[in-house]
Amino acid sequence: MSDDQFDQTRLRLAIQKSGRLSDGCIDLLKNCGLSISRGRDKLYGRIEEMPIDLLLLRDDDIPSFVADKACDIGIVGQNVAEEERLTIQRDSHPVEVKKLGFSRCRLMIAGPKEWDYSGGAMLNGRRIATSYPGLTRHYLEQNKIDATTVMMKGSVEVAPRLRIADAVCDIVSTGATLDANGLKPFVNIFDSQAILIRNETPFTDEKQKIYDAFVKRIDGVMSSRHAKYVMMNAPRDAVDQITQILPGVEAPTILELVGKTDMVAVHAVCPEAVFWDTLEELKQLGASGILVLNIEKMMA
Ligand code: ATP
Ligand code: ZN
Repeated sequence: MSDDQFDQTRLRLAIQKSGRLSDGCIDLLKNCGLSISRGRDKLYGRIEEMPIDLLLLRDDDIPSFVADKACDIGIVGQNVAEEERLTIQRDSHPVEVKKLGFSRCRLMIAGPKEWDYSGGAMLNGRRIATSYPGLTRHYLEQNKIDATTVMMKGSVEVAPRLRIADAVCDIVSTGATLDANGLKPFVNIFDSQAILIRNETPFTDEKQKIYDAFVKRIDGVMSSRHAKYVMMNAPRDAVDQITQILPGVEAPTILELVGKTDMVAVHAVCPEAVFWDTLEELKQLGASGILVLNIEKMMA
């Protein structure tokens, strides 16, 4: 470890060391034009292009590291951040800055396949094994279901077979693990994705500048995800109609075409996806040579 780890002029970002958030985090940083150099201990990394240090942690530790100011910001699943908020008492919890669109998953209540699930009332008087007692209890209370939770750190899906619980509440992606344990998901209680969190205490001016620049890069990546650059030649008198059908475009760039007076080139950034039917409509308005290109980076 280097002394830089405690350098207060660098923003400290916590990410998962390895697991289902890591690939998404690394991709996001890469798309932000940031590369990571990892220390030998692999718990500590540095971003080359910006004054940002990385702490590579277990995902469960990320909210408390941010709350305790061991890190300024972190990337974590909403499920973990919300569970922490519901179960840990502290003066202030990390705040969600933005949703990042990856590591999407669902927290679901599942029970024996034989159950003919007819609604929440069926869970009355039952025990539900879960690693998310906070989120599970919150759902039960909101839905006036009188069930108890049994906390389990892992292998929640074996609880019913071992008669530790009647049902489970767990992260479900394909449902294969549940199925292999004779269980079936009945209710989705929480939709999750990766989020950026921060400590709510104001940063020093220096850190705030780094933070703003980092968030701006993330915004650029997020907004360019569906954005397209569209180019075409079009009749000059169809430009108004063309502008209206290009999703999210207010003022396209119009360029003269050498030797032509009735046709122009139209270039525009569409912030939303461009579908085939839009291209068909453009063609019907007389557009030709239509090109739709991916945008790698964008800054407002
Ligand atoms: P750690 O060792 O860091 O504690 P873990 O085993 O608790 O890791 P992972 O399985 O790597 O956690 O999941 C991390 C986060 O990724 C979860 O909290 C959730 O937000 C999200 N996640 C979980 N399962 C999936 C999935 N199947 N697909 C996408 N995202 C998921
Ligand atoms: Zn974990």
